[in-house]
Amino acid sequence: MPEALLPEPLLYGRPDFARPATLPEALQLLDRGGWRILAGGTDLYPGAGPQLAGSVLDLTGVAGLDEIRHAGDLRIGAATSWASIAAASLPASIHALQAAARVVGGRQVQVAGTIGGNLCNASPAADGVPPLLALDAEVELQSLSGTRRLRLADFLQGPRKTALRPGEVLCAVVIPERAIAGRSAFVKLGARSHLVISIAMVAARVVSDQGRVTEVAVAVGSCSAVAQRLPAVEAALTGGPVTDAVRMVRAADVMSALSPIDDVRATAAYRGEAAVELVRRAVAGALA
Ligand SMILES: Cc1cc2nc3c(=O)[nH]c(=O)nc-3n(C[C@H](O)[C@H](O)[C@H](O)COP(=O)(O)OP(=O)(O)OC[C@H]3O[C@@H](n4cnc5c(N)ncnc54)[C@H](O)[C@@H]3O)c2cc1C
Repeated sequence: MPEALLPEPLLYGRPDFARPATLPEALQLLDRGGWRILAGGTDLYPGAGPQLAGSVLDLTGVAGLDEIRHAGDLRIGAATSWASIAAASLPASIHALQAAARVVGGRQVQVAGTIGGNLCNASPAADGVPPLLALDAEVELQSLSGTRRLRLADFLQGPRKTALRPGEVLCAVVIPERAIAGRSAFVKLGARSHLVISIAMVAARVVSDQGRVTEVAVAVGSCSAVAQRLPAVEAALTGGPVTDAVRMVRAADVMSALSPIDDVRATAAYRGEAAVELVRRAVAGALA
């Protein structure tokens, strides 16, 4: 990227690093190609090896990209840190996301790491994904060509694979007003209690009325290439008595949506058994 093409304040004395203050500036730079987006850097740098190739476009100076706004829909700016999400005052349906925020790495990672980075990195073990799937979350993507919205479930296409196009920035995660209902819980299993990549994790959101479950959303991560909702579990629990909800979680219904693998953290069989128990605990937590 020739230095003369860039506005001087962005350069920090280097042609290969820019920290724009506005989204239009960021999009103009990205449109020229050759940039790698940086947010908290907690996935980008560890994944890059000894040297990060290419020019770096740091989004953390972009005004408004780290804001949480609740007016009907809930809009979380892509550069919002996990620490900010955990500390925000949010409805009970968002508590699963806040619980996940408190267990993404340790405090340093939570202060630097962002919700947008977690989604764009597209790890099957990304803790932010199950709570957002249980909230029917959408992502807002912007480029110089315009803005588009995708369901998070469509944005995530596989391990490290998303629908993000060249020149696009993930600007915000949007939780539709209709999904901001009920209470939610998040349960994570790792090889130790803190600073751990998930072996499996589950988010559940339950809406009840007069002792009956009227709506339920359950999503499991780390047990398939992309975290999955559990339609069979949701169908089995909807309409039933709240007091029977945990008992109504059948292992076959959980496993019908999952395809766990063996890896360094756990065997597929262990993951499957763990997922069933975690679903029960998450449903119980959302009803507690
Ligand atoms: C010690 C340690 C522990 C961790 N523990 C956990 C854990 O327990 N659970 C968990 O889920 N994760 C964990 N992580 C991973 C990481 O912290 C999170 O995924 C975090 O949310 C990534 O956000 P970031 O802002 O640092 O992303 P970055 O590293 O800045 O970016 C990640 C990727 O997303 C792209 N990107 C970032 N923002 C945007 C955007 N707005 N638009 C388009 N592309 C974008 C970048 O180009 C890059 O490809 C851990 C990491 C470390 C180093």
